[in-house]
Amino acid sequence: MSPLAVKIKDKKPGQRACDEKDQKGEVCCGHLKRWYTPDEEVTKELGKGVEIYRCERCRTLYRPVPGDRSTAGQRYELHPVNILGGFSRDNK
Ligand SMILES: [Zn+2]
Repeated sequence: MSPLAVKIKDKKPGQRACDEKDQKGEVCCGHLKRWYTPDEEVTKELGKGVEIYRCERCRTLYRPVPGDRSTAGQRYELHPVNILGGFSRDNK
């Protein structure tokens, strides 16, 4: 998996608050809002029409994980639609 140009965290099932830590190690706790108008860079990374959430405070981006998978590191095994095409290296 090539690294993303855009930092996007995985939103755990049911997660509604940002768990990004600031420089002091304090959790942001900002509200995660559905982001309907991702900018061009994000759209390029994730594809169009992808569900994206954004923290109201620190603007960290989140995308929902398909579900609680016990296999850590295998988060991308569910591909209901081909939204992951944007990750391929030749898309730059
Ligand atoms: Zn935040």
